[in-house]
Amino acid sequence: MIDRSDYFGGDLATHKVNLEALIKREDFNASAGSKPKQGTASTFKLDELQKDKLYYKVLRKPDFQRITDNWTPEMIVDFVVSFLDWDMIPSIILWHSQDTGNVFVIDGAHRVSALIAWVNDDYGNGSISREALNFEVPNKQIEFHEKTKALMAERKIGDYTRLYAIGLNPQGEDAITVNRAKAIGTRQLYVQIVDGDGDRAQESFLRINNNPATIDPTELSVIRARRKPNTIAMRAILSRGTARTYWEKFSATTKKQIEKFGLEAYDLIFGELNEISANSPDIPRAGQPYSHEAFTMMLDMVNRLNQIKDSMWKTAKKRAKKLQDSGLADDADGSQSIKFIKKVIRANKLISGRHKESLGLDPAVYFYGETGKIHPFAILAALEFAEDLRQRDQLKSFTKVRNKFEEFLVKYKTFINEIGHSKGSRTRPVESMKSMLLTIFECMKSGTTGNREIIDTIRSDSRLTDVAKKLDPENLDQQPPQKNFSKSVERVAVIHTILQGRSRCSYCKARMTPDGRCKDHKKRVQDGGLGTLKNLQFTHFYCNTGAKESEHAKKVKAGKHENKSS
Ligand SMILES: [Zn+2]
Repeated sequence: MIDRSDYFGGDLATHKVNLEALIKREDFNASAGSKPKQGTASTFKLDELQKDKLYYKVLRKPDFQRITDNWTPEMIVDFVVSFLDWDMIPSIILWHSQDTGNVFVIDGAHRVSALIAWVNDDYGNGSISREALNFEVPNKQIEFHEKTKALMAERKIGDYTRLYAIGLNPQGEDAITVNRAKAIGTRQLYVQIVDGDGDRAQESFLRINNNPATIDPTELSVIRARRKPNTIAMRAILSRGTARTYWEKFSATTKKQIEKFGLEAYDLIFGELNEISANSPDIPRAGQPYSHEAFTMMLDMVNRLNQIKDSMWKTAKKRAKKLQDSGLADDADGSQSIKFIKKVIRANKLISGRHKESLGLDPAVYFYGETGKIHPFAILAALEFAEDLRQRDQLKSFTKVRNKFEEFLVKYKTFINEIGHSKGSRTRPVESMKSMLLTIFECMKSGTTGNREIIDTIRSDSRLTDVAKKLDPENLDQQPPQKNFSKSVERVAVIHTILQGRSRCSYCKARMTPDGRCKDHKKRVQDGGLGTLKNLQFTHFYCNTGAKESEHAKKVKAGKHENKSS
């Protein structure tokens, strides 16, 4: 049955329904220490989940609980059908707060939300969700709302109101439908009430979920550190500035800033989302933000860019209360979280987006491996590589060799996979990948352009000793061929096609992504160039401003050159 999957999804990360808004969040700490109510109802019926019913209105989930977006349309429909068909359903665990009078869902938020979704016809784009999102529902979320509704109809359940009406007036309907309709009025959902105070309820939650099979240890650490600026920053970015509950306590101005910067960072990192298939116009920049991979990548990105080490914020296996001792303090007013997000924005602006400093690194070149899969460590490595070049004032030198540099990466995509397979901590491959990028750059810069020579240099690099043995270009195509095109073959083909089809920067000749393309006057405006088709060319943003302008300045040697964009 659907049970522990409440907290941990499989790999269908792109096919999830967002039910987050259906149960309101409440700060659990406010209730810590308070005594539970006696006599809390131990069952409830479906119609009490209608949005205008009092029982629905007092339902809460603890602010530390994971976002309720881990079920597929199929899981939601299956669960509702199970309920209506009287299948066994594990009980929900609740806790009743003395302080606020509200009832917290400690375990079973996805199950209760699935029922609320059906009863209120809201699978992410109904009236409750829309209002919670200020009527700005992401397209993906709308799509899954519609998908779930369609599946409900296909499975002959349809809307709650329809089935309810059949229950009242069953003439002419088939027996199964009538029985299901009656279940709305007769079946009760059993709940287990945690007795004890708020601390005990929080411990129950952590204990229920403190098992790698139910929740990833990283996610548990993030829950425990939910008031720290690094986790607030990563939540703000991943949710595109909508996971309000994590910064609810801050001032109105701070909240606005967190939401604005969260959105900006998200757009820089993830860009337009696509799925990889034969008809994809492009590939996703950084994978799917719903996925577990994205969750850990974002956490690593925030931490690495802000020099936060695990020992500063993680308290493994200890009681949540002991958090205060670690190096990184909770963010009391949100200012630290904002600082963290801004660091992420600054770093990402260097590799993506439409800004004058953007190198517009092509994800197909840098982030995707030989099997057409995206590798989060490669994203982090590219970010840090670019940042390293900026700090050492090497961006112009990079632009000079960029085309050859990227051709090498494309030719030896298998290196990304080999580095990814190397053992060690999650961020170990980031270090190796970054070192490899730096080594290739240094080779090219010093005029070593033969592939064999570069590979030999990489293999003799002391920073790469643990992976160097594996980096063997002869080691390709090991998989036995199949008759049909596997998903992986399709992905590889799509990436190859995209790599071939990319237009080239007129300045550095390397590939450009469509959104990394900048209009450029061949003959500069300052020199009398016009806005004609003949005088138009496309370049990377950085190539247009940073590289080209500085070259011009050198030529003019006027010494008082203004850095205007052409
Ligand atoms: Zn360029």
